[in-house]
Amino acid sequence: MKITSAEFIISNSDVSKCPKDPLPEYAFIGRSNVGKSSLINMLTNHKNLAKTSGKPGKTQLINHFKINLNWFLVDLPGYGYARVSKKTKEVFQEFITDYFEKREQLVCAFVLIDIRLEAQKIDLEFITYLGEIEVPFCIIFTKADKISKTKIDSHIAAYRKALLANNWEEMPQHFVTSALESTGRDKVLGFIDEVNEQ
Ligand code: GDP
Repeated sequence: MKITSAEFIISNSDVSKCPKDPLPEYAFIGRSNVGKSSLINMLTNHKNLAKTSGKPGKTQLINHFKINLNWFLVDLPGYGYARVSKKTKEVFQEFITDYFEKREQLVCAFVLIDIRLEAQKIDLEFITYLGEIEVPFCIIFTKADKISKTKIDSHIAAYRKALLANNWEEMPQHFVTSALESTGRDKVLGFIDEVNEQ
């Protein structure tokens, strides 16, 4: 997919105020600092479409970007490090669970995972939650430039094992990306293209 336009539309914390356009939408979510903003900027070929962090307290809202006038990229708030023992419903503000449970235009969520780290409880709980509410999702492993190619394979294998131990029958569709080296860009955009054409 060639990105011909990427335009910020609206930020809000109320699902009922999200754009009414019946366009398919793809949500990006993950732990704070996972590289979500960098990935969104890399995918859309924009230096600053999503704000890269570094600062605590950056906007915690649902951000809609219209891409190529025919789909929405939705940048959701990063979730925290500390409150791992709480259930997804308690970790997320209600408007985020509302978004996943009510947004009819949502066709796929991309759950971002830092490829360097062991499977984190909070991510596994979130993935379980998506399964329970039957939201289709893919995993995007980020920051692949930070480890060697052989380690990439072994880390994915370890992640698969962690998911299987959490009652998943198979590894979900996944992508390996690096915002620094633009790795995985064609595959992620190609996937979105394919789903949009279905
Ligand atoms: P966010 O909080 O999930 O939006 O994460 P950011 O996109 O702001 O990135 C967090 C930090 O990780 C920043 O210092 C980025 O420069 C760095 N980062 C993000 N993606 C990559 C990547 O693909 N490779 C490397 N080496 N660093 C990355």
